[in-house]
Amino acid sequence: MSSFNTLDDLGDITGKVALVRVDLNLPMQEGRASDVTRVEAVKPTILELADRGAKVLLLAHFGRPKGARHSTMSTSMVQGDVERVLDREIMFIPEVMGPVVEQSIGILRDGDIGLLDNVRFWPGEEANDAEFAKGIAAHGDFYVNDAFSAAHRAHASTEGLAHVLPAYAGRAMEKELKALDAALGNPQTPVAAVVGGAKVSTKLDVLENLVGKVQHLIIGGGMANTFLAARGVDVGKSLCEHDLTATANAIMDKADHAGCTVHLPYDVTVAKEFAANPPSVRTCNVHEVAGDEMILDVGPLAVEALGDVLKTCRTLVWNGPMGAFEIEPFDNATVSLARTAAALTQDGSLISVAGGGDTVAALNHAGVAEDFTYISTAGGAFLEWMEGKALPGVAALTA
Ligand code: ADP
Ligand code: MG
Repeated sequence: MSSFNTLDDLGDITGKVALVRVDLNLPMQEGRASDVTRVEAVKPTILELADRGAKVLLLAHFGRPKGARHSTMSTSMVQGDVERVLDREIMFIPEVMGPVVEQSIGILRDGDIGLLDNVRFWPGEEANDAEFAKGIAAHGDFYVNDAFSAAHRAHASTEGLAHVLPAYAGRAMEKELKALDAALGNPQTPVAAVVGGAKVSTKLDVLENLVGKVQHLIIGGGMANTFLAARGVDVGKSLCEHDLTATANAIMDKADHAGCTVHLPYDVTVAKEFAANPPSVRTCNVHEVAGDEMILDVGPLAVEALGDVLKTCRTLVWNGPMGAFEIEPFDNATVSLARTAAALTQDGSLISVAGGGDTVAALNHAGVAEDFTYISTAGGAFLEWMEGKALPGVAALTA
């Protein structure tokens, strides 16, 4: 990982104005955030800067206003939630640049916090317009990016500002980058990757990138069906992308050449209908799936063998559930493998990093979210990182 500056590299910041990019795109219900995880994540950075005497200006987007003002998408909608989590009063500033911002900075005392309005109200944000970035930068002494989840976008507040002000990674960004580096950038080997979820087509780039980097590629979920079909297995009525079997074979060939072992399930849990505990549910060898059955989870023998694989590994990166975990008993493989990974992590033999919308939900369901080394809630940015892509917001910090 190329190096980047953190808050440790800041000198005396008393009275200085910090422009801090955070993710305040909170899910809302009846005018209140239904989940404040994103605010909790940036709290340490905000409070550290404030307590070190800076005037902290928060910069964020909220919804998709597409370059125009919408009262329902003002960041003032989340002011109360941010104040509750920080346990501080903050000043809402209905602009991102100009005299109103200048006057507000004059009113803020050292250690106070201001919240600028939705940066996506201005078209210069998503266009990454250099003049727009300079207009914001004129108010600040330095820039802190603590929004990894927005780092896959090259926007003015996520990328452009890093070029016009001294730039630092916030504490949450620092933690995320270190965890991701430990998982795939510069990992302790052997490395295992678990890739599951619904479809191969949504994760082709992830699979292509991983086969060149990990020693064990564990494929589960619906996408395992496509790989099994490519190996000549009759998967019955399972979710399967038959038009991608050639692609699946190419990925397995590439893995072979790279010295990466691909693990496909050899037993599976099947049913005739996708419902909770259906009467037709049974476990069988992959070669015994009937024409009217669907593979909905990896089987118990395969899960045990996969647990043994994890025991030989030092690092695990996980995206995608092993089965249709939302419905019992098709959560068994995901829960069981997650608990094995969590136990190995707690024993100190495994570094475990996971991410993805449904993956985070599945690991919470398994009750292991606290026991993994790191769980990324970054969604799109996490997947692009797993695809091996350079994230513009990170690249600008590490330049
Ligand atoms: P993430 O959001 O973590 O990246 P995905 O969105 O790729 O994960 O995949 C999650 C979805 O995959 C879940 O809704 C789950 O029910 C589905 N899934 C997993 N295994 C199967 C299967 N064997 N058949 C059908 N759907 C599956
Ligand atoms: Mg998903």
